[in-house]
Amino acid sequence: MDATPCRVTVYNEFVHEQKNEDVRRLYPDGIHGAIGQYLSGDGFAVRYATLDMPEHGLTDEVLADTDVLIWWGHVAHHKVSDAVVDRVQSRILNGMGLIVLHSGHLSKIFRRMMGTSCGLCWREAAERERLWVVNPNHEITAGLGRYIELPNAEMYGEQFDIPEPDELLFISWFEGGEVFRSGCVWHRGRGRIFYFRPGHETYPVYHNQDILRVIANGCRWARFRGNTQTFGIEVCPNITEPLEPIEDKGIVFAQIDHPTA
Ligand code: ZN
Repeated sequence: MDATPCRVTVYNEFVHEQKNEDVRRLYPDGIHGAIGQYLSGDGFAVRYATLDMPEHGLTDEVLADTDVLIWWGHVAHHKVSDAVVDRVQSRILNGMGLIVLHSGHLSKIFRRMMGTSCGLCWREAAERERLWVVNPNHEITAGLGRYIELPNAEMYGEQFDIPEPDELLFISWFEGGEVFRSGCVWHRGRGRIFYFRPGHETYPVYHNQDILRVIANGCRWARFRGNTQTFGIEVCPNITEPLEPIEDKGIVFAQIDHPTA
């Protein structure tokens, strides 16, 4: 186990908190601040990034110093620069973890990584939500009971247009009858991705200790711990020197062009 603190960057578009008094009352330091304060208290090294910062706070230097990126966005997905999305995708493929929260399902980066529309249906009626743990043998659900209950939530319902998750961790039930795949993980390149549904901005979801615990568990799970020597991430190197001698078969290959980086 790596003893150095896990470096987490919390991205929040930070629009609702600045425009809406009710949201600001719930999150005086922003949604990113509420999540970051919990993570800091749990031993993580936290920094923040918001839409209005230069390059949304997601420069090459910041991403190179980030083990896990958390993403919260809602009304300003379209304002995120494509160049930043390219950069984040590249870092994920090379091993940075990504945690996408709630309405981040329609963010450019999540749709890029999934390759699908990531659409769903929704309703705002302050309904009860129960997030059932359907995989108790997973690092992300460690320390929870059978379910997490939220007294008031925005409903998200199926069909959630995502590729089949590598593992399904939570299924939500809502008071109005819908169900939803609320906790899903995927692997992309060397990167690990976790989508976690709760987090509507008008409810105090990111003050719920179970929800925050899941996000912290998600950061621990998504931190890269694999083999950095793997060839073939993003580039396709031509291995001209074999490890073992190869018998000369007398075959002359046609001189054709190959793509260059
Ligand atoms: Zn919402």
